[in-house]
Amino acid sequence: MSAPALIGLSPDHLRRRFKEVGVPGYRADQVAEWVYQRGVLEPEAMTNLPQELRGQLLADWSFRALEPVRVAHSTDGTVKAVLRASDGVLVEAVLIPEEERTTLCVSTQVGCPLACSFCATGALGFTRNLDAAEIIDQVLRMRELLPADRTITNVVFMGMGEPLLNLPNLIAAVETLLHPKAFAMAPRRVTVSTAGVVPKIGELLEAVPVNLAVSLHAATDAVRDVLVPLNRRFPLAELMQTLRELPRISRRHPVFFEYTLIDGVNDSREDAREVGRLLRGLPSKLNLIPMNAHSDSGYQPPPPERIDAFMGELVRGGVTTTLRRSRGADIDAACGQLAVREAAG
Ligand code: SF4
Repeated sequence: MSAPALIGLSPDHLRRRFKEVGVPGYRADQVAEWVYQRGVLEPEAMTNLPQELRGQLLADWSFRALEPVRVAHSTDGTVKAVLRASDGVLVEAVLIPEEERTTLCVSTQVGCPLACSFCATGALGFTRNLDAAEIIDQVLRMRELLPADRTITNVVFMGMGEPLLNLPNLIAAVETLLHPKAFAMAPRRVTVSTAGVVPKIGELLEAVPVNLAVSLHAATDAVRDVLVPLNRRFPLAELMQTLRELPRISRRHPVFFEYTLIDGVNDSREDAREVGRLLRGLPSKLNLIPMNAHSDSGYQPPPPERIDAFMGELVRGGVTTTLRRSRGADIDAACGQLAVREAAG
């Protein structure tokens, strides 16, 4: 049996594990600093640890959970990596460098059970949840791809899978991202996206103070039932009521909605007015993302004038809206395109 993974354990968790074997807590903090802050994963190089502890770390723990298989660079700077776990499954992570920030989009599951009709990941079906080490190793591996003068400033859980269906591992990974002795990220720089797993939303925000993003994609149950089949279990009224009752949501902490615009499906002026009615009074921001055409879906993005008209209607309805330019489409790294083509055959 292989050694348990040390990465993915938060410094607090690591302290407890070290104490169980008689190693003082401050040593756990030192190891966390080497691993998460400096990216040093060989115990031999952890020079402030006694030699005996370095040997113990090497014998008792593994420091990697994923091996890179392929890295693709988009012409717009986006970087997508395919990574292999120890049982051979493949996951994808995407780095999106911008002027001021570098956002990492991570996966939480291999495939996804929710089968949204516009999503390449959903078309793969579901294999398994990723554990916390496999989530954190996406962060470590992707950071290693950046030039020395850049680091990851934002993490979004919007890659493969539905994060709230893997809540314990998601929370453990987020705790490590936020912990001052680990990645020390500000909570406002970490965003978890859900298709609307209603019973888990409150639980997530009680555990970790992250930004919440909701994949809306339609403002009526008739359309959303088709695009996001989870809507049949948790329809819009239930989802919106849950969001309105979240104590954390305020003007300072709005809900971020994602709306993929699909030609002839959810892009009419009436659809836009319906979105305005749905979000009225809820502190929120909406990201409009024109559909990325991928080979498995028949959907297309609307023509530019229809996108403009939709956006205009939203703004008139009082919805704070951003049109998101899609990144990495030439390497299948854009939203809804993550499908690990090697795995899909
Ligand atoms: S859009 Fe998200 S929740 Fe829906 S199938 Fe794709 S990965 Fe799963």
